[in-house]
Amino acid sequence: MSENKIPYKIYLTEDEVPKAWYNLRADMKNKPAPLLNPGTLKPLTAEELTPIFCEELVKQELDENTAYIEIPQEIRDFYRMFRPSPLVRAYCLEEKLKTPAKIYYKFEGNNTSGSHKLNSAIAQAYYAKKQGLKGVTTETGAGQWGTALSMACSYFDLDCKVYMVKVSYEQKPFRREVMRTYGASVVPSPSETTEVGRKILSEFPGTGGSLGCAISEAVEVATKSEGYRYVLGSVLNQVLLHQSVIGLEAKAALDKYGVKPDIIIGCAGGGSNLGGLIAPFMGEKLRGEADYRIIAIEPASCPSFTRGTFAYDFCDTGMICPLAKMYTLGSSFMPSPNHAGGLRFHGMSSTLSQLYHDGLMEARSVEQTSVFEAAEQFARVEGILPAPESSHAIRAAIDEALKCKETGEEKTILFGLTGTGYFDLVAYEKFHNGEMSDYIPTDEDIAASIAKLPKVEG
Ligand SMILES: *Cc1c(COP(=O)(O)O)cnc(C)c1O
Repeated sequence: MSENKIPYKIYLTEDEVPKAWYNLRADMKNKPAPLLNPGTLKPLTAEELTPIFCEELVKQELDENTAYIEIPQEIRDFYRMFRPSPLVRAYCLEEKLKTPAKIYYKFEGNNTSGSHKLNSAIAQAYYAKKQGLKGVTTETGAGQWGTALSMACSYFDLDCKVYMVKVSYEQKPFRREVMRTYGASVVPSPSETTEVGRKILSEFPGTGGSLGCAISEAVEVATKSEGYRYVLGSVLNQVLLHQSVIGLEAKAALDKYGVKPDIIIGCAGGGSNLGGLIAPFMGEKLRGEADYRIIAIEPASCPSFTRGTFAYDFCDTGMICPLAKMYTLGSSFMPSPNHAGGLRFHGMSSTLSQLYHDGLMEARSVEQTSVFEAAEQFARVEGILPAPESSHAIRAAIDEALKCKETGEEKTILFGLTGTGYFDLVAYEKFHNGEMSDYIPTDEDIAASIAKLPKVEG
């Protein structure tokens, strides 16, 4: 089919929607390092993980050999409500930029939770229900994951306890109310309801909390409550697996028109949307079938790939969670409070960390005012109000398209537009009022938290 026939939106038919997730690890020669037990520093076994996570999810977490894992029918039925998500050819943006580049984006903000997180939330809720559990606990920062999980839990009639980082709980009442609408209970973290919460509160009274601290609380409650397990919205291998539906759909849509991207761009917080978007493309790259430039974009204020260390670290501040080998800024790293745009986790998916370490993908950091400039430019021509997180990818896509304008190259760029920004209007307001600043941590800031990394060989 010829180029000019490519529609503004490429949809897949229900038959073309993926019926299995793709497990990228199956094609990796250097597998991501295993999670370690923080007590013994030995790789965690399934038996040790099942008190924390659902059984089926533990299997997926540890499975590094099965390339395709069938998506259960019940999950596919739920996906039908908001998937396939559109793959959009950004004709309007291309024209505005006067670039010869061809830009595509995969839009995941098409559901009430407003982001890609629902792809994994529904899978995790399904496996919890199948195991006969009463409910699940989790943490949420800005609230996207908590919202997605509450939707998924209400669909399967599961109890959902969300520990929400206290500053967000106070500053983002709307997300909180969406979660409560779906029946979740939402607790500001740190809280008096857990041992670790009480400990953090006594050391740092008045703290606004952090993701790492909310994780510690949610894990504690899950492991101490009969019939509950903990679920996590990013970072883990199982989450990247579920998110592969993004990349599989994007690739199927592009394949329909014989389009091959040259550059694939995604924002990186814990790495789940990026890992999902790139999965089938990276698979081809690993098998030597095709080559792509793959770029992770992170905030300059929380630069785990570009300024972090590849080492074993805790995933939480309370240091009760397993150790993961990843690019990390140290679990005690706290991004500056004037950082608005999400993506504030100190570490990174160990799968993506390994790929980056092996030179299979690149990473770049961007400053938040330039991210909001890109967000606004995009909103004005493409119509979608993007999430600040997603706008990190927009920034890089625009930059690449502008390079093409200089060189005259007609590169094809694919990026992930992970969500909408309706609940981020306070940050947009700061930007519009000229009150937004760019904070970049100093080398000393980063060295101080890196110095506290646990001492582990390898
Ligand atoms: C959570 C979130 C992200 C970052 O998380 P990843 O696991 O890195 O994908 C990006 N965009 C949106 C809209 C999010 O909600």
